[in-house]
Amino acid sequence: MNVEHHVDLAAYTTFGVSARASTVVTVTTTDELREALLNYPQARLMGGGSNILVTQDVDVPVIRIASKGIVVVSEADEFVLVEVQAGELWHDLVTWAVDHDYGGLENLALIPGTVGAAPMQNIGAYGVEQNLVFHSLTALDVADGSSRTFTGSDCEFGYRSSVFKTTLRGRYAIATVTYRLTKPPHNLHTGYADVAARLQGHEQPTLRDVYNAVVSIRRAKLPDPKVVGNAGSFFKNPVIDVSTFQALLAEHPTLPSYLINQEQVKVPAAWLIDHAGWKGYREGSVGVHHNQALVLVNHGGGSGREVLQLSKKIQRSVEEKYGILLEPEVNLW
Ligand SMILES: Cc1cc2nc3c(=O)[nH]c(=O)nc-3n(C[C@H](O)[C@H](O)[C@H](O)COP(=O)(O)OP(=O)(O)OC[C@H]3O[C@@H](n4cnc5c(N)ncnc54)[C@H](O)[C@@H]3O)c2cc1C
Repeated sequence: MNVEHHVDLAAYTTFGVSARASTVVTVTTTDELREALLNYPQARLMGGGSNILVTQDVDVPVIRIASKGIVVVSEADEFVLVEVQAGELWHDLVTWAVDHDYGGLENLALIPGTVGAAPMQNIGAYGVEQNLVFHSLTALDVADGSSRTFTGSDCEFGYRSSVFKTTLRGRYAIATVTYRLTKPPHNLHTGYADVAARLQGHEQPTLRDVYNAVVSIRRAKLPDPKVVGNAGSFFKNPVIDVSTFQALLAEHPTLPSYLINQEQVKVPAAWLIDHAGWKGYREGSVGVHHNQALVLVNHGGGSGREVLQLSKKIQRSVEEKYGILLEPEVNLW
């Protein structure tokens, strides 16, 4: 393992905000992860740093998980089980799967970060969440390094949520994740409007067509963290009850919605933020992206505290206008 002291975390997170960490320990195997957990109790875990806003210096050690490896552990006529080390880059896994004609991950192309963090918030995009193809994971208990296997139901996956963000928060370091990927013929998810539009003209789209469509949509729509610091969607899309939604709709007839069930409706946080007047807003070095109201950005030289303060202003303004309290999706350190 590699141990560094007095590290500026700007290079380790996609927001690129400066904050000092007393110690950063980078591990490249599960054994090193276990050793680091035992040697550095109280440590915080980090993968690619693409869903973290660091708002102050970090005085506890940070363990960066960079273990690599993708292995087919079993195979049947219709599917393969693929075990992936936590530090593998998510997009590299998706690309590997498409290259091998294994289906299920193609809609999740180009999501930044590592495989180990994917189950944490049950990453999702373009009509698919990772739990659709999740099989199991192994995680180390941070208290004693012992290993435990979690099935899908153990993980309690929900919208940008899992047991690792709720009741078991901070208790486990995810070491490997196993996905159950399909062999052809694939059940492709092409219903999402943007994806369907890109695939027009493809009579029978392939796995690679869907992957290419998602990559090109994301490249066109989302700010590249290498160019402008950000962590993707800063807030979750709020889920409200149908009666609240209907009352809001009477006042704001263009408010979009996705029906979740008979009682609940999801509304796009981006629409709320945009219509509260924040899209493109800039305050010093931080702001709201000019195309994506849900993405808060560091134009360069901004601090995590400034981004946090801006996020609170947006929360207050959306709550005053719509009576909805936006919840951050990003992990605040
Ligand atoms: C441009 C951009 C676009 C994005 N688009 C999407 C999107 O479409 N859909 C989506 O769902 N997300 C999206 N995200 C958010 C982000 O990519 C995901 O949340 C990703 O899974 C984070 O991975 P990471 O390795 O960077 O995690 P980190 O940011 O390093 O960590 C996130 C959280 O997980 C914990 N953690 C990390 N690794 C482990 C581990 N091995 N075990 C236990 N805990 C761990 C950390 O402590 C932290 O609390 C986007 C981000 C960016 C910058």
